[in-house]
Amino acid sequence: MLTCHEMQELVPEYIAGRLAPTEAQVLRRHLQECQSCTAEVEELAQVWKLLGQWPEEVPSEQTVNVIRQTVLSDLASRQNVALAREILPARKLMWAIVDGLVFTLGSVAVMAGVASFEGLSAPVLLGSGALWSALYILACALYFRLGGQNGAAVNLRVIATAGLLTMGFSLLAARTLSVGKLVQHCQISPWGAALFRCVGQEGAYLLFGALYALAPLLVVSFAFGEQVQRRPILHGLLCAGLFFLLTLPAIYLQCGAFSLGVGLSWIAGAFLGSLAGAPLGFWLRMQSRSQTR
Ligand SMILES: [Zn+2]
Repeated sequence: MLTCHEMQELVPEYIAGRLAPTEAQVLRRHLQECQSCTAEVEELAQVWKLLGQWPEEVPSEQTVNVIRQTVLSDLASRQNVALAREILPARKLMWAIVDGLVFTLGSVAVMAGVASFEGLSAPVLLGSGALWSALYILACALYFRLGGQNGAAVNLRVIATAGLLTMGFSLLAARTLSVGKLVQHCQISPWGAALFRCVGQEGAYLLFGALYALAPLLVVSFAFGEQVQRRPILHGLLCAGLFFLLTLPAIYLQCGAFSLGVGLSWIAGAFLGSLAGAPLGFWLRMQSRSQTR
């Protein structure tokens, strides 16, 4: 037995004469007993008849343009108001700047213990610091950003949190066992020496740079994947991009003593590792969730 609501959904097809005979019969039987559905049918039949008399006239190009302009300007003004209100209120922006600067100072302090800044000129150091501050502030702004969290395609808060947390881990790793130290250890050990003969110093930095980005991103993305409802790969790519940008100044500051080739290999490794680690983490979490369901 169909409800009135379900019956009324059949009405347009019925009036257009496109309903299957059995369904049409069910509807007709219902109409004999139901006043509200009958009224609905009569109303729609009226509209249908009017539509049949509608002259098939193509609106002039001018009319179309006027309508298009009106709609576009209406949309634009609405978007502007919504954007200003939504992106970031002043108080949150202030917090993003303060937190971003705190993160930068912390990172610089950690890096000062790892790398010597002696070979770098003051403008280069200032430039790196400024770039780092800008990136950290951007990450914090993504975290604090209002609106669009529910039902939005991308959860920026998760991306910012995962990116910042991974950055913290990778700074800790740099403090305890930096890529440079690891490469040195490897050169001493027999299997490491064999590896070096195979891939060269550039290859070693590419490999370890990739591992140092991949491992923490994989773990953190997997941990935060729970909060992502859909599009794990997109979340992973955005998180990878954020982490890679944040880690650039750290690599650069550690590269002072190395050749350009080594530095570029390291950066390429970090890029590839980020690109693999974060999407894989989010994706694996989503897979594990859909299997337990
Ligand atoms: Zn009814």
